[in-house]
Amino acid sequence: MTAPCYLCGAPSIIDGLCEDCYTKEHPLVKTPSVINLLSCKQCGAVKIPGGWKPIVGIDPNTEEILEKQLEIAIGQEVQNLSPENEMFIEMEKKLDRVLETILVVQGRSHPQLKDHQETYPLEIRLEYGTCDTCGMMSGGYHEAILQVRADGRYLTDEEVRDVQNLVISRTVSEYGKDTKAFVTNISETKYGLDFMIGSEHLCRQIADELQSTYLAERKENFKLIGQHKGGKDKFRITILIRLLSFALGDIINVIDEPCQVLDISKGGVSCLNLRDRSTFTMNPKSAKWRTIEFLTDKSNIHEFMIISKSANHSIQVMDSKSYEIHEIDEGLFESDVENGQKIRAVLIDERLYPVQV
Ligand SMILES: [Zn+2]
Ligand SMILES: [Zn+2]
Repeated sequence: MTAPCYLCGAPSIIDGLCEDCYTKEHPLVKTPSVINLLSCKQCGAVKIPGGWKPIVGIDPNTEEILEKQLEIAIGQEVQNLSPENEMFIEMEKKLDRVLETILVVQGRSHPQLKDHQETYPLEIRLEYGTCDTCGMMSGGYHEAILQVRADGRYLTDEEVRDVQNLVISRTVSEYGKDTKAFVTNISETKYGLDFMIGSEHLCRQIADELQSTYLAERKENFKLIGQHKGGKDKFRITILIRLLSFALGDIINVIDEPCQVLDISKGGVSCLNLRDRSTFTMNPKSAKWRTIEFLTDKSNIHEFMIISKSANHSIQVMDSKSYEIHEIDEGLFESDVENGQKIRAVLIDERLYPVQV
């Protein structure tokens, strides 16, 4: 025989209360009836105490963004009394700046009780502003300038594309973690690329990666741009990354041997010796490195067609553009070639060497 519920007299189950009265006394959430949702009209970030919460990976011009914003606002304003509760919003009426909704919560008030649903009318008032990041971006704010150049040459199209992709992907992955992770301006001149970057931290991160992937030289300069409120000098950093004097595919001399650059990476520069067909890797610490001389860039690599093989171990080829005839030693080919086959080769000191494509 259980004691009666002290509120209604029905048989009690928990703490002297029946199921209905216990549930009423222990709601699943505590929620205000009105929530103000302040969001950035440019990027959709939501104002939360102490800052802005950016929304990553959703286009701010879609309906989806509102769902995500509501989720953030509810997470901030509604006090959820159990992590196991499930919450969602049902839209009742959507006006320009006001959403009349029902907050639906599913959960249990006590481990001994079954799941039940509670509903709360909830008015969401929409307000719009500009978040810190968008404000700084539109003002052209930048703490750092990253300049990418190459030693004694212009950047190749491939390098321009790869460097831009790296800057974009690093910026995107920092977005949401660093409020200044943005690039306010990119300029491309024939000398190279300049990026104006909101965050010095991000700029350094990108510079580190460029420096190691391209085995590049790095220089840092500070320019006085004003004073902090306390009177301390304020500087802007410029990081110059200078890529090697040669690029992928170019032909260089290493210890007086013509070599094609096959790869440039953190591990070093891999080359094909065009004369003895051996491959090797060197890095700036290698003794070989100091002997490097630039010979020609890959635009001088041409296509040739094999026209005949003669008995004296040389192969006749014809330049596909100029129709000039040249001879190549048979020993310079790694495998057998056939008449009519097209190959790529480069002329160095009047000798023609097959190269890798
Ligand atoms: Zn009761
Ligand atoms: Zn914004």
